[in-house]
Parts: sequence; C-alpha cells; structure tokens
Amino acid sequence: MAQYLEIKSRHADALLFFRMGDFYELFFDDAVRAAEILDITLTSRGEHEGKPIPMAGVPYHASEAYLARLIKSGERVAVCEQTETPAEARKRGSKSIVNRDVVRIVTPGTITEDTILPARQAQALVAIAFSSGGADAAIAACDVSTGAFDIRAIAPETLGDHLSALPMRELLVTDEDEVRPLVRLALSAFRAPVTRRPKRAASPRSGEAALKATYKVAALDAFGEFTRAELSAAGLLLDYLSLTQAGADIRLDPPRRGDTGNRLAIDPATRASLEIDSAINGGRAGTLLACVDRTLTAPGARLLAARLAQPSCDMDEISDHHDAVGFFASETDLCADVRIQLKSVPDIERARTRIRLDRGGPRDLKAIADAIAAGGAISSALTSHETGLPSLIDGAAAALDPGRQAELSTLAADLAKALREDLPTLARDGGFIADGWDETLDEAQSLRRDSRKVIAALQARYAEETGIGALKIKFNNVLGYFIDVPARSGETLMKPPHAETFIHRQTLASNIRFSTAELSDLAGRISRAEEAAKTRELELYRDLCQRVEALSSSISAVASALAIVDFASAAAEWAGETGAVRPTLTDDPVFHAEGLRHPVVEASLKADGEGFTANGLTLDSSGRTGPRLALVTGPNMAGKSTYLRQACLAIILAQAGLFVPASSLTLGIADRVFSRVGASDDLSRGRSTFMVEMVETAAILSQATPQSFVILDEVGRGTSTYDGLAIAWAAVEHLHNVNTCRALFATHYHELTNLAEDLAHAANLSLRAKEWKDELVFLHDVQPGPADKSYGVQVARLAGLPARAVRRAEQVLKKLESTPDAVDALPLFAAFAEEAEPFAAPEKPEALKLLEGIEPDNLTPREALDLIYRLKDSL
Ligand code: ADP
Repeated sequence: MAQYLEIKSRHADALLFFRMGDFYELFFDDAVRAAEILDITLTSRGEHEGKPIPMAGVPYHASEAYLARLIKSGERVAVCEQTETPAEARKRGSKSIVNRDVVRIVTPGTITEDTILPARQAQALVAIAFSSGGADAAIAACDVSTGAFDIRAIAPETLGDHLSALPMRELLVTDEDEVRPLVRLALSAFRAPVTRRPKRAASPRSGEAALKATYKVAALDAFGEFTRAELSAAGLLLDYLSLTQAGADIRLDPPRRGDTGNRLAIDPATRASLEIDSAINGGRAGTLLACVDRTLTAPGARLLAARLAQPSCDMDEISDHHDAVGFFASETDLCADVRIQLKSVPDIERARTRIRLDRGGPRDLKAIADAIAAGGAISSALTSHETGLPSLIDGAAAALDPGRQAELSTLAADLAKALREDLPTLARDGGFIADGWDETLDEAQSLRRDSRKVIAALQARYAEETGIGALKIKFNNVLGYFIDVPARSGETLMKPPHAETFIHRQTLASNIRFSTAELSDLAGRISRAEEAAKTRELELYRDLCQRVEALSSSISAVASALAIVDFASAAAEWAGETGAVRPTLTDDPVFHAEGLRHPVVEASLKADGEGFTANGLTLDSSGRTGPRLALVTGPNMAGKSTYLRQACLAIILAQAGLFVPASSLTLGIADRVFSRVGASDDLSRGRSTFMVEMVETAAILSQATPQSFVILDEVGRGTSTYDGLAIAWAAVEHLHNVNTCRALFATHYHELTNLAEDLAHAANLSLRAKEWKDELVFLHDVQPGPADKSYGVQVARLAGLPARAVRRAEQVLKKLESTPDAVDALPLFAAFAEEAEPFAAPEKPEALKLLEGIEPDNLTPREALDLIYRLKDSL
C-alpha cells in the first residue's frame, strides 16, 4: 500500500492501473470511478486508516478494451507495471514486493492502440503557445499513431480557424494562456479535452532543447527557423509526450513546417454550419466528408479528411490533384484495377509507428510487408499504362516501385519469408517466425517439437524394461515430467533392480510417480530448448523491427504514396457515381456554375427515390461578368439554404482537389469562405442568440476580402423585425460596398429586395414555388428577380397546423394585406376574432378517455398490454 500510495501521489489526475500479476488493480476513488464507468465489480482488499480499501480490477489480457472505454469517457489512465520479476526482487533482498513504476500515461491524444483508435480518423494532440507579449502565436500538432508532427506560427486571431481544421483529440495549453480571451473563445467551440500545463513547460528555451534532444541534432537549422512562439508550442508538446511516455524516447517524424499562407481559411462557425466533417449533432453521418468518401484504406481516408478540413489556395497544388483525379476518372479500367489492390492494403503508417514505439507485434510487421508488396503491384499497374501519368501519381508510382526501392523490397520479401501465416498479437506469445528462417531457432524448435517423440520412445523403453504395460510419462506444472504407474506395479519399481534407476517422487491413492536421471536430463534439455527458442524468436523479432525502423522514412513515403493513390482513385469513383466534373480555376474572382447540386442533400433525396433540382449561379466580385452579391428570397422550405450551401461546398471540394457536383464550374480561388445561419440557438455557450449572430456577422464584415466567398442565411432573424431588417440592410451594403466579396444573402425581409436596385452589383434571385389546388409546390429552381410572396400560410398548412388555424391565419393575412400599416392593423384582431366563429372545445378523443380511467400502479403487465391494444384500436 505504501508503494501504491507513493506512485499514486505522482499521478493524482489519472486513474492508476496498478499491475498485480495478471490484473491491473485500481484502489480507493479510482476503483469506484472505474467500476462505475466500466460496470465491473467493486470489492475491497485490506484496510487503510481503519477502513476497507475499495478495489476493482481488469484482467491484463483484456485491458485494452477497458482502457478504450475509460479514455472515451474522458479519463486519463496511468499504467503502472512490475519492473522486475519476483526472482529479481528476492535477489535484491526484497521479500515479497517487486518494484513497480508508471510506464505510460494514456490520454485521449496519445493513443496508438488499433483497438482504441478509429482507423479512418487521424488524431491530433495539439499544443498552443504565445510569444511573451501575446502578439504572435503558434501551434504544434502531432499524431502519435502515425508520427506526423507539424509546427506552425499563426496570427493569434486565427487560432480558432486553425484548431477547427485539426482532428483534435486533446489540447495542451498553459495555465497562463488559458485565460486569454482568444483562447477562451477558441476553446468554447470545441469538445476536445483540454489539459493544462504549467507555464515553465512552454518556454522557448526548453522547447529548443527538447527538439534538439528528440532529433539528436546540435542545431535546428535543418528544420528552418523557428519563432519563439513555435519553440514554446513544440516544447509544450514534447514535454507532455515525454511525461505521458514516462521518459521513453519520443518517436515522431521531423517536424513539418505548416504552410499557413496558402490554405483556404474556414472559421469554426463556418465549418460547423457547412457540416464538413462533423454534423450539427456531432456525428459523421450527413457530413460532406461522409458523402464523398470512397477511400479504401485508412491512410487514404485520413488524407481525404485532412484535405477537406484544410483545402488549398495554391492553384498549382489544386490542379495537380485535379489532374490525378481526372486521370483515374478517364482510365476507369486501371482505376478499378488499382482499387481492387487497395482493398487489401493494411494501415502501414500506424503499424510502422507502433513498431517504433515498441508497442507493435508480429502482425504489424506483416502489415508492413503486405503494404509494400501491394504498393509494388499498384506501381507496376500504373507504370505499365501507356499514357503518361500526372505528376502526383507518377511520384506515387516511383515511391512504390520495388525496382527503385531495393531495400524496401528486400525487407518486404524477408518479412514475408520470416513470418508465419497465423500470427499472435504479441511477440512474447511466440510461435510466429516461420521454419527455415533461422538455423538456431530451427534447432531449438526441432528439439521442442521432437520432444514428444523422444518422450514416447523413452516411455516405450521403460515399459519394456520393467514389464509394466501401463507405465506412462506425463507432465504437470509441479513435478514437470514424471513416470506414472498404477500403485500395484509401483511397488516393484521401489525394489531392486529398478530402485536404482527409478527415484520415488509421489504416492497417490492409485498411482505412484517416479523420475529417472535420464528423464530429468531430457526434461532439462526440452525446457532449455523452449527457453532458447523463445529468446531467439524475440531476438529475431527485434532484428526485424530494427530493420523496419532503419527504413522508417521510406516506409512513411510508401504510406503517403498509397494514400494519394487511394485519395485520387476514390475521388474519381465518387465523381463517376455522381456526375461531378473538374472545375476550371481562374485568377478572376468569379463563381460561374451551371447545374450545381448539393452533394449531401442530393444523396439523401436519392435514397428516398427523389430527384434534386440543379441550379446555376453567377457571381463576380469585380462586377464585370455578373453581380457581386445576390439576395435570395423564396418561401420557407423552398431550398434557399441548400442553394447557398452548395456554392460554399463546391468551393471546398474544388480547392480540396476534388471534382464538383455540377455540369460546369469556373472558380476564382477563394481565400476564405464564410457561412452564417441566423438565429441558431447557442445557449449552451452562454451567449444569446442575437449576440452570437452579431459577433459572427461582425467577424465576416471585418475579415472578408474581395477574394472571399460569403453566405449569410436569414441573418437578423434573431431580433425584432425592424432591428433585424436594419441590421441585414446594413450588412448587405457593407458586403457590397466595403468587402466587395462574392456573397449570397438569403432573407425573408422582402423590403431588402429593393436594395438590388440601388446597389450597382447586386441582384435578386428567388426560389420558385407554385400554388396548385390550394397546396404549395416547391420547384426548387432559381430564377432572377425577387419572390413575390412569402407563402407562410401555405407552409404552415403543409407543416400540419390544424385546418381551423390555417383558415384563421388566411383571414388575418387578408385583412393585414389590405391595411398596409401593420401596427395600426393590430386592434383589428380583436374585432375580427369576434366576427369569426368561436372555437368549440373539441370532443375528447377515445384514447384519452381510456387513459383517464386507469391507475398505472395497479396494472399487471398483462393488463397493460391489453390497454395498449385497446388504445391502438381506438385511433
Ligand atoms: P429554405 O432554406 O428555403 O427553408 P432548405 O434549403 O432548407 O429551404 O430546403 C428544404 C428542403 O427542400 C431540403 O431539405 C430538401 O429536401 C429540399 N430541397 C432543397 N433544395 C432542393 C433542390 N434543389 N432540389 C430538390 N430538393 C431540394
């Protein structure tokens, strides 16, 4: 207990998994908490300060699943192992207590286990830091499961944009920085757990030292120049990694310097409202990512997610991706061929990292061999193709080409030869190296394998020599190998001449057990051979791991090459399925689309067997070839939001390097996209709806440039009519005159449509609806000019407002329309109400009457079931 308490005192903020034999035990509050989360039994063991100590345990072999659940529910777990064997402890002079220490702290951002990690999602551990004055900021982000490491300087006010683009699982921030308003604002937008660290963990000097130590270099020049904030962020991250890995070597790839200049900026609110990779409800279903994702490998899926999260603004880079997608889109046979191969490619990136971190196993080695082999096959399929390859695919084919990567193919061939078919998860379980790979191992194995035969031969000989047919050689954990004979025959063995050879070991009721010098000798040789085989196998395993480690960067290049081939071929497949086309990029700030569709809405309509109405859109911030800003009106449910969003999604898809669901799109590359939806309730963040709307609108009006693309949906709705109208009015004017960006503004304020006449580069668009037999039919097509009516009453009818209320609303509307001043018209309601036939109280439905008559507590289950049938019948 003293040992436990000492270790626990160093890890107060984590659940302590205390290794005792085959279990991880938890004690005190840890036990109570874990028992509750994991639904395991809470027991007690011994006493502490006169009270029983609560205890709960999980079996060591099944611990990963338990870990996963604890991490998911936001816990941190310190894993404390026995660091010596009981024999070593005795040698040291300790009677019964083995040394223990924490070998790892598992936190949401530092997981590498395949069983815990969602394969198709990257996971970032992110550190943020500021320069001492706060004028500069930086973020350092790593994915410990792939080894990726990225350091970038950022403008402090863009913190939220950068963070929201990362697949963040855990955020590190110093106590001091956490209270900065910018940080608080950014954090309020995320659900990722925040880990607070002391300020000294983020000093530029210790950051520099940590980087040098991690990469074993004397100077950082090879990585480029770092700002002080970047060094701080890197230091904060590396310090935490070292803490959670209990001082073990940090194995991350050399830091990539995040290029922040040429990425499409998407702020958190825009990202959320466009549902790029996370739906409003937090799930993945219904997102743009889920809709377009046809990737077959986990690295491919992660690459697609990263590109959609941070599309590019670099025309060449985007074009390269379009070339690659276009190549597979036109070479459909080759594409199908490659995709068949990709299906069997394992996650080589994570396998490589687990091996580097010494958390791997034989299966990871096999994954690497298989992926390299599959890469070779894909490369030859690509290079045997007659037409030239686009640059990205050409580069990938080269990285995968076994001819050019001789060392890799030797490694893959050796791994294939060295490993058996059926592999254990853990190397120490043994039995994974194939026969014929290593002579020493084969020898040891053959004795082990032959031991059965040798023992059987010895048994036969003893039976013959003693004349006891029932003599058997058996094995148990207490005696090891022994000779077992029925009690009666045993007597003879205890007498000469046999007594010299057979040494008595044990007498049971009906059997007597013996050993012989020969048998002990043989047993010794067998167990030594087993030990030798095990040791040798681990040695060979380590050799293979070292070879993998030595080729780590080429393996990483294979992973990236496979990911890009997967990305491009998957994008081509999606484009083929949905009729998406390659966008034309230009330097002019235009958006000319024909037949544009919303990929997610279209897919969901298709699932219901319905069609999507494609629409065109022309915007030009210079005003030369079309309006800069369009006001979109139309009844509720007509498709305004869909129309606005599909324009933004097209930009994101295009700049991420994918095709767009349209018959054509000419796009001037956007530097930012903004999307706001008015009056979304955001009480959870403690700000009023209207305040949120205004804060967000203010951000757009102050940041949008002529290259930006803005959609505003019903902004101003969060306040009274006149305020809202006034604000919407001013926002439209500002966007048009000051920001001069491409913008779509959906509104239900009809008064706003007059603005189009006064503003030089504004136009009205509307979504059509038709009244047909007293019903409203939405045509979903966009036409020039404002909508003539709001159709609110018809929409209300469609929504199922009782017929009586709809009729009344129609009467009131007529009255209001004939009396232009709405305020003066109000008293009419009362007078009008008297004229109209009063509402009669409706008769109570049968079901209600039935319910009134029952006493729930007195019902038997049978009666309850009867009642449900009666209720159903009464409908
Ligand atoms: P609004 O913003 O005008 O209230 P939405 O854009 O939310 O309307 O669209 C309402 C519904 O209409 C969508 O959920 C979708 O089912 C359907 N819809 C929208 N646009 C189209 C379209 N172009 N073609 C077919 N159906 C559409």
